Amino acid sequence: MELPLFPTTVVGSWPRSNEVLHGLRDKKAGRIDENEFNKIADKAVIDCLRLQEEAGLDIVSDGELRRDNFISFVADKLENVKMLTVAELLDYVEDKASFEEILGTLDVPAFSLSNPAAVGKIDRKTSIALDDCRFLRRHTDRPIKAALPGPYLLTRSMWVEGLSQESYPTKEALADDIVRVLREELIDLIQAGVEFVQFDEPVLTELVFTNKNANRTFMCGALTAKADREEELEFATTLINRVMEGMRGKGTRIGIHICRGNWSTQEDVLLRGPYSPLMPYLSRMNADQFILEYATPRAGELKDISILDGKELGLGVVNPRTEGLESIDSIVERGKEAAKLLSPEKIFLNPDCGFGTFAQRPMNTPETAANKLKVMVQAAEILRQQL
Ligand SMILES: [Zn+2]
Repeated sequence: MELPLFPTTVVGSWPRSNEVLHGLRDKKAGRIDENEFNKIADKAVIDCLRLQEEAGLDIVSDGELRRDNFISFVADKLENVKMLTVAELLDYVEDKASFEEILGTLDVPAFSLSNPAAVGKIDRKTSIALDDCRFLRRHTDRPIKAALPGPYLLTRSMWVEGLSQESYPTKEALADDIVRVLREELIDLIQAGVEFVQFDEPVLTELVFTNKNANRTFMCGALTAKADREEELEFATTLINRVMEGMRGKGTRIGIHICRGNWSTQEDVLLRGPYSPLMPYLSRMNADQFILEYATPRAGELKDISILDGKELGLGVVNPRTEGLESIDSIVERGKEAAKLLSPEKIFLNPDCGFGTFAQRPMNTPETAANKLKVMVQAAEILRQQL
């Protein structure tokens, strides 16, 4: 894949149109089938694609428009995965009262809690992202990016004591099958020539940033209990490396996206803290690129990235949750700063996260989102001239 310096791309999700939202609801209620839904979504994906092309992005995505959110959609793709409702989930939370309070104070939307749980041996029922990538390929000449939930995120969310135990006595046993399934999908995506595959592992930040108001922080898909921090980070690093083994260098760039949550526009309820406690683990993760948020001040200072020497950085330069447009100058400055710490050919530009992680709660209007992509592209053009 030939890319210019400072290639521009998205993290993945895009605000859904009303048609897609209705379609998702009708599909869930059984009023329309998968084919009927796809007819609605196909048109929306093409619109989203044109928007990205017009903005001038170098690598495009389908906006994850067919997904209800970045993780729970796997319930449709995998055998023996059941979607738990909020009420069902509460049965599995040890301290219900404090959990309910956390949901209230942290502005957590109830629908974001639909949690895919393993209730039997899991396997792929259908492709997780390949079919969507094939559709995208037919409609664009640009390199494409596909996002998949990472192996740690999936393990944390899908192993629910009392539901998963019969098939998987431990979360480690489930993780073995999650790694296998993700590797199968990754091989398919590599064979199909998908240029960029991104694994989403936002829940890693939940391990290192504790909220002073809550003994248990909320993070989508991280409701099950965890072991101590070092043990969990070690476990996550091992799972990621098992998925990656033998996969790099085959023409598909493989990245890991880590953010502090993207469920609310109230910045003060989202997690806060620098990447520094994660960096020793990231430096051991066998990936081509880390896609990190740096537009939000909650993410700390950029200097932490120097430990990633040799890896690429997907530098978050626009905040998907704010209405105000970032200035081109500020993005150029940020790009230069990052290029000094790594090197210019290692830096990609992207927003901090998706614009619509949860279908029902977009973080922005499509107009503002598109404008943010445009300033990012303009900044990339200046950086290419100056460096
Ligand atoms: Zn994110």
